[in-house]
Amino acid sequence: VTRVWCEYAWLGGPSVSRGVTVEIDGGQIARVVTDTEPHQGAESRSGLTLPGLANVHSHAFQRVLRARTQRTTGSFWTWREAMYEAASELSPEQYLSLATTTFAEMALAGITLVGEFHYLHHQPGGTPYADPNEMGAALIAAADAVGVRLTLLDACYLHGGIGKPVEGTQQRFADADVDAWAGRVEQISPSDTVKIGAAAHSVRALSPEELAEVAAWSASRATPLHAHVSEQKIENEECVAAYGRTPVEILRDAGCLNEQFTAVHATHLTPDDVTSLGDTVVTCCLCPTTERDLADGVGRPAVLRAAGAALAFGSDSQAVIDPFEEARAAELDERLATHARVNTEPEVLLAAATESGYRALGWDGGRIEPGAPADLVNLSLDSVRLAGTAPDDLVAAAVYAAAAADVRDVMVDGRWIVRDGNHVSVAS
Ligand SMILES: [Zn+2]
Repeated sequence: VTRVWCEYAWLGGPSVSRGVTVEIDGGQIARVVTDTEPHQGAESRSGLTLPGLANVHSHAFQRVLRARTQRTTGSFWTWREAMYEAASELSPEQYLSLATTTFAEMALAGITLVGEFHYLHHQPGGTPYADPNEMGAALIAAADAVGVRLTLLDACYLHGGIGKPVEGTQQRFADADVDAWAGRVEQISPSDTVKIGAAAHSVRALSPEELAEVAAWSASRATPLHAHVSEQKIENEECVAAYGRTPVEILRDAGCLNEQFTAVHATHLTPDDVTSLGDTVVTCCLCPTTERDLADGVGRPAVLRAAGAALAFGSDSQAVIDPFEEARAAELDERLATHARVNTEPEVLLAAATESGYRALGWDGGRIEPGAPADLVNLSLDSVRLAGTAPDDLVAAAVYAAAAADVRDVMVDGRWIVRDGNHVSVAS
């Protein structure tokens, strides 16, 4: 049994608790006691301790694009060409090294669980590797090396656009059909820190019938199912032109929408779309640092939540990796759209970044309470950003003032993987 004494810890709600002793046994939180003094037999952590943060939507390889697409005018679609170029020649060895450093950057930012939306499956040209899951295995090996939890959301991707064959780099993404995709995914083994989930790439990459097949596969195994939804207006227009229905309507009719489903982005929605997502209690994963980088549009977390949907956040394209920035950006962007402040309270944003994100990735965790996985993030309150914060304002400070650089120690599964701002095994 390990004991960690935390000067302040967030146990949920609008304020923090003082003097919290967290007892850890076998990678799980066994006991939580508040109002304790530092004591022998417990490691002490000053500052603020949060539950582990979930990065619900990640494409690790897109880290190579950071700062490389900022010089010339363009759009999501010109950025996508640069992304295809970055993905065109990546080998499994390069993928392992790239994903290891990307996941290590996430760990240093307080991310303890990554949802990797994985579609870079096959060799250039589309031929499977000898092990058809070699690229997925590289992601699993990277997460293991870094010590973060992983939900590998293996993406089914069959078409290069509505009614279009895959071409160029897209050939690396595509399986022959849904059965071939499912057969491949069924060969990937989960572990104590790795879960396997499903992703339906988008209504661009799968027909309504294929979406229904993926939904049925996911439901039969009770895995999370994620999809890109209405990130771009053009994607909606093409979908309505082809099917007479919005992407959300297509997903609803295909049986995708339920509590296991996460709609990634969910930016350009009709009022009926919002109602459908809320009524079926899906999670909406906003990726505001990417959505602003790609000129996608402004997400509406408070509107989605009021309708009944849960919220979560993702670093998506890795334009930046900072879960605190992600959480505040979701609300601050909505302020620009509504001309109103505090559409979503800080504790709700923090719960979206932790417990709600864990749930969207198939884990019961992201809370500091008995029975939860022992995943903790300790923030120093000595930095220029957080110095002088009153205890009553610590939850708001975590969302509105903290940065990835304030993360001092990170525990996953009862093991410290970051100590004093350094990763314990991956050199920075
Ligand atoms: Zn994405």
